[in-house]
Amino acid sequence: MPTPSKSKKPVFKTKRTKTAAIDLNESDKKIKKQRIKTILKKLAPLYQDNPIEIDYETPFQLIVGTILSAQCTDKRVNMVTKTFFDRLRTPQDFLKLKREELEELIRSTGFFRNKAKNIQGAAHQILENHNGEVPEKMEDLVKLPGFGRKTANVILSALFHKNQGVCVDTHVLRLSNLLELSDFNDAIRVERDLMALTPQKNWHQISHFLILHGRRVCVARKPDCEHCVLAKICPSVSLKS
Ligand code: SF4
Repeated sequence: MPTPSKSKKPVFKTKRTKTAAIDLNESDKKIKKQRIKTILKKLAPLYQDNPIEIDYETPFQLIVGTILSAQCTDKRVNMVTKTFFDRLRTPQDFLKLKREELEELIRSTGFFRNKAKNIQGAAHQILENHNGEVPEKMEDLVKLPGFGRKTANVILSALFHKNQGVCVDTHVLRLSNLLELSDFNDAIRVERDLMALTPQKNWHQISHFLILHGRRVCVARKPDCEHCVLAKICPSVSLKS
């Protein structure tokens, strides 16, 4: 009995397949870059004039406001800091307070014990290691207690107009997924994607605009697609919302 002939294995043209995959990635990247360009253009008139929503007069007060803003709205932070920022301006001022006094002042921002500890820890580090000046390098800022890349980016951009990264909070993460700028759901990888797609000079803007858009229009509970200026380019638009 003749042995059945083995079916011919399909021949893969590895080189072409690889090239096609690269082309696809490249064209996908091009589309996303164009989408970012449009997002910046559409959102600039809405949010350009709202640089940062935390009130402060001295650099260290921005450090304090940023620490207090964890798990708390900027509005509440501003209400609380308004009661003591006129007398507490420098790292030394915050270190003169007893820990319990500081805890009482910031109690209503939540997690007040941890935040008081971080504020005085940051004041101490800034005095010890940076002659009392808020450091302007990412690697120094992320060493301050209560600080990560996200908060360090806020300081770098607001105080020093430096774009060393893209600040990714929950809004930036959610909108990056909805707008299909990144498929990831962790801040580090979303930041990496946004940095690759956005010109460096716009790193601060893209983050700032997406945060405000996420708070005001594309809110997590019910995105207001009907009134969203990004509706035409958003892959997740639902005009029935
Ligand atoms: S169109 Fe809808 S889902 Fe897309 S960004 Fe706007 S509000 Fe969000």
